[in-house]
Amino acid sequence: MYPKFIIDTKKLAHNVHLLKSTCNDKGIDLAVVTKGFSCIPEVSEVIANCGVKYLADSRIENLKGIKGIKTEKMLLRLPMISQVDEVVKYSDISLNSELSTINALNEAARKQDKTHKIVLMIDVGDLREGIFFKDDILGHINQILKHENIDLLGLGFNVTCYGAVIAKPEHMEILLDIKKQVKEKFDFDISMIQGGNSSSVYLLLDDNIPKGVNALRVGEAVLLGQETAYQRKLEGYHLDVFKLQTELIEVQNKPSYPIGERGKDAFGNEPSFEDIGNIVRGIVAIGKQDVAPDALFPIDENIKIISASSDHLLLDLTDTCYKVGDIIEFDIEYGSLLSLSTSKYVSKEIK
Ligand SMILES: *Cc1c(COP(=O)(O)O)cnc(C)c1O
Repeated sequence: MYPKFIIDTKKLAHNVHLLKSTCNDKGIDLAVVTKGFSCIPEVSEVIANCGVKYLADSRIENLKGIKGIKTEKMLLRLPMISQVDEVVKYSDISLNSELSTINALNEAARKQDKTHKIVLMIDVGDLREGIFFKDDILGHINQILKHENIDLLGLGFNVTCYGAVIAKPEHMEILLDIKKQVKEKFDFDISMIQGGNSSSVYLLLDDNIPKGVNALRVGEAVLLGQETAYQRKLEGYHLDVFKLQTELIEVQNKPSYPIGERGKDAFGNEPSFEDIGNIVRGIVAIGKQDVAPDALFPIDENIKIISASSDHLLLDLTDTCYKVGDIIEFDIEYGSLLSLSTSKYVSKEIK
């Protein structure tokens, strides 16, 4: 069945072992982020079996799907108040920034006779989630410490996902400073200081993570073998854990420039075209509904991606001899990983 999304779990396990041992050498616990492949249980299990400390995902539905795996689970996206019961049930730790949500988690944990662990997110400037670092963080912590069924386990920050800010030791120092103040003011030890995500991996490899940081949440670097601060490939890591196979449904010699009056394309854009004469145009049966075309790379370097609409991906096959029914293979980047793993139209093969 095509399109087919192929996951090589041996290669993945190799990457996880490498990153885990680098982290452990520096006293850092690794949370492997599973949202890139929609937390497919068989794949998550392979990661758990590598002995990582945490599995982390942004969606509680995904963590519910791996409730049978013993490894501690961390919910990355801030909980919805409407989902606090599930959050307490299916995650051991959640990342938080809102006192009203933490209050609701406390109630849910009390009802389930549990203690729910939280990591308080500090926004160090990337401007997605977290209490802004200049706000009254100690005031927030004072409130949090009053909850009987909430354990303030750690502090965290997230960068690079929205604002494209690159992780720096200074960001981690902000957290370490808060930890120190909390110890002085409330005589309370915050045990986990999270040093960010794949954007911090370059600091890890250069041994520049400040002392006291003891956890990382890493997805892309371990899944794709590439850090996200400077997009460097990581030495010794497999870059091809994931692969996509698609089937050609048309191969025809046609012009490169559309003929007739032009309006907008299927997505409301006005595309531009270059007239390079006739080319061999191929169509594979996959589209923007399943994949992000700019995060897709044909393994055969003679193939070029022209464009995509919702269900069709157009290829320039001019310098090749493919025919209808042939299979075209692609390397994938993070944007495509997310949508391919989610699409019900894409079959999954776990090797
Ligand atoms: C997605 C996500 C991560 C993982 O990011 P990578 O860049 O894939 O390492 C870590 N933390 C949070 C809060 C996330 O949402």
